[in-house]
Amino acid sequence: MLQTDYIKLEDKFGARNYKPLDVVLERGEGVWVWDVDGNKYMDCLSAYSAVNQGHCHPRIKAAMQNQMKKLTLTSRAFRNDQLGMFYEELCALTNSHKVLPMNSGAEAVETAIKAVRKWGYMVKGVPEDRAEIIVCADNFHGRTITIVGFSTDPISRRGFGPFTPGFKVIPFGDSKALENAIAPETVAFLVEPIQGEAGVIIPPHGYFKKVRELCTINNVNLILDEIQTGLGRTGKLLAEEHEDIEADITLIGKALSGGFYPVSAVLSNTEVLGVLKPGEHGSTFGGNPLACAVSREALKILTEENLIENAAIIGKKFLSGLKKIKNNKIKEVRGRGLLLAVEFKLNAGGARKYCEELKENGLLCKETHDNIIRFAPPLVITAEQVEWALERISEALSG
Ligand SMILES: *Cc1c(COP(=O)(O)O)cnc(C)c1O
Repeated sequence: MLQTDYIKLEDKFGARNYKPLDVVLERGEGVWVWDVDGNKYMDCLSAYSAVNQGHCHPRIKAAMQNQMKKLTLTSRAFRNDQLGMFYEELCALTNSHKVLPMNSGAEAVETAIKAVRKWGYMVKGVPEDRAEIIVCADNFHGRTITIVGFSTDPISRRGFGPFTPGFKVIPFGDSKALENAIAPETVAFLVEPIQGEAGVIIPPHGYFKKVRELCTINNVNLILDEIQTGLGRTGKLLAEEHEDIEADITLIGKALSGGFYPVSAVLSNTEVLGVLKPGEHGSTFGGNPLACAVSREALKILTEENLIENAAIIGKKFLSGLKKIKNNKIKEVRGRGLLLAVEFKLNAGGARKYCEELKENGLLCKETHDNIIRFAPPLVITAEQVEWALERISEALSG
């Protein structure tokens, strides 16, 4: 079959809720993927940071194969021999006390929202149905009705109302706005350490120190959505470490399975996750033995293969290379670890054309909002591979 035949099939039978680059992939290994014609590309998106460990990591593959021969799903009606160890290892790694496992990132966000509301009524003493959660403009937390209800992106919201009440939006990176927004019924502040989908927006240094302080003083849970920034992406295990703070609730997903399986988790302490009692929340697939076995291996790889340090070191090299590109249509180059972005000026005619050109040169990346390209290769990328990528990027982006 030709690539165009695969594309026609997708377009004929599939809902058109994505506008992908027209490259039909069939195989992946490390930072590389191959299309059905055998063309090789470097993946500089990593499935939005879900394949931090590289495509089809052999150790995760083995763990998955091993587990799938034994047991895949029990539901939480029964226990399984992987869940406890998954919890223990994840808590040890992230310095958490409790875990609630889910599948997609959006489900982890929803779970945190439910937990902090319940906490508000049971612990903080907020009057029933009055709990409020503060979020940031230009956030991205997923696609459920509740989550898109507090999005500020018109495309994400339009046509999907009515929405869930109980959210207040403030500007990102502005601690004064948070201070002013906190009210007696505020139960949480939900925020990304770096806004990934918004275009790798890094808040001013010291912002999170102040945020942490305000949340503590006002008895408000700080929920950090580290679904994209977590698990090594920014050169630390969790991006919160850059500002030396600790969230009350941390959300992880994406790379938690190294791209093999949807796995997400809410990490917290006993006070918050302890408010959920049997029957109040759940998921048929959440915490299944296959997910746990896959995640346990995916987490081990992050540390045993030094992927977090690699992201820090290689990320610096990648960033300085991007900064050398000369094109007066570039507005800004920014990044932390291996979460990088090039933002074009509004008169540049959009970033999509550069992504198309890079695809022709063997490098896959995706524009976010019309004028920004995000570069986020798997964390297994080597110095030589970054040189290779920079040569192609410079060629496509110079102007
Ligand atoms: C991807 C993402 C989500 C949603 O995860 P899904 O698995 O797509 O539901 C939530 N928050 C952030 C910051 C993300 O990057």
